[in-house]
Amino acid sequence: MRRTLVIKSVGKTIGVQFKNWVSMKHIHLSYTSFPTRFRPFVKKGATFLVDINTDDCFDLTNWALKKNRSFKYRLYPTKGQDKWLTEATEFSTQVWNLAVNHLHENKKRTGKYLTYAGLDKLLTISRSQHGWWDTFPRFIYEKQLERIHKSVKAFFLGLKEKRKVSLPKRKKDNDSVSLDIRDGLFKVTGDHITINKKAIKINMHRPLPEGAKFKRAIFKKELGKWFVSIQIEEEWSNPPEQKTTGDRIGVDVGIRHFATLSTGEHITNERFFTKNEKHLAELQRLQALKKKGTYGYRRLAKLVAKVHRKIKKQRKYFHDVLSRRMVTEFSGVAVEDLNIANLMEKRKGKKIHLAKPIADVGWASWLDILEYKCLEEGVEFKKVPAAYTSQTCPQCGAVMKKELNEEVHDCSCGCRMDRDHAAAQVILNTAFSS
Ligand SMILES: [Zn+2]
Repeated sequence: MRRTLVIKSVGKTIGVQFKNWVSMKHIHLSYTSFPTRFRPFVKKGATFLVDINTDDCFDLTNWALKKNRSFKYRLYPTKGQDKWLTEATEFSTQVWNLAVNHLHENKKRTGKYLTYAGLDKLLTISRSQHGWWDTFPRFIYEKQLERIHKSVKAFFLGLKEKRKVSLPKRKKDNDSVSLDIRDGLFKVTGDHITINKKAIKINMHRPLPEGAKFKRAIFKKELGKWFVSIQIEEEWSNPPEQKTTGDRIGVDVGIRHFATLSTGEHITNERFFTKNEKHLAELQRLQALKKKGTYGYRRLAKLVAKVHRKIKKQRKYFHDVLSRRMVTEFSGVAVEDLNIANLMEKRKGKKIHLAKPIADVGWASWLDILEYKCLEEGVEFKKVPAAYTSQTCPQCGAVMKKELNEEVHDCSCGCRMDRDHAAAQVILNTAFSS
């Protein structure tokens, strides 16, 4: 039996809204699985068609998504501005390290972790020890405190849910540090970004969307050049219609191939890291021979960072192209609901050699990109539980144990095919069976 539910008042997010309705639990769950860049919310008068026997939601109207996008630009600061940015970044990192010290010391002394207010109080006491404290406004380090507080919260949540979440650590000199400024404290006018009354020249190689709502700006020096990443929030009130052209596809991500489709096609594992690994190892070997802090050491550190950046760019490009292809060709995409952090952790214990390729190919970020591209294009995206997908026969449904090194699925029903191909078909069948 189906029933329509109408939203009378609107909570902050759909998650908050549904806390009031026990029968809506199911929808709440499915909406929390939106990719991180999207925050769904409903408008007043939104309606839901719900099956009251199963809590399945069939249709909802008058809803919208909030989407975060980020735009990265090169900056051309003057000498003075460069100095200010560098010192502000350094200062904000120092505050971070100081706060992390306080956090751990306080835990040792009292057995408890500090709250945001407690952290702030201790930092105020430390003011006198730092000459810079009066030079820079509070907003320079505010975000750092927020972030530390957030990670402590995440840490406790992790304890509760038996996940491993690490506490914030001190930042070392060679860690990438940035200046994180919230909305309202910077302004973009023409080809300048103004922060703390300093108008810094910006290379506007692509325009910001008209009337964009700013969230934050992150200033960062990369290999001697300054960049700013401006994050904006877009309201997306007309989610696209469900795409009707193209088949549905099941995708199995794996170690031997980056992914295998239920059509049997293998997508080659582009191990950018492995490819560049030899080069990287050689550079790092040379770097180890140099004395820390010397010119030669710094020069090699720069080259190492360049290789890392190259790998990152190549991987991003590969992920973008592949997910674009998926949403163009297919009307529905099903993947395994892998908890990649757990997977890596689990395998670290037994088979160390497996952990690296998993981190290397970056499934997590690919699945994230794939999910939001699907959403943008109206392609149905489904995650199926990972249990047994690689153990089940796509033809007869029999479950049979397979070792990691068994490459062929060979069932007594006569179904014989590549292991990953079989898994992709199982994922497809499970996701779109009804
Ligand atoms: Zn079979």
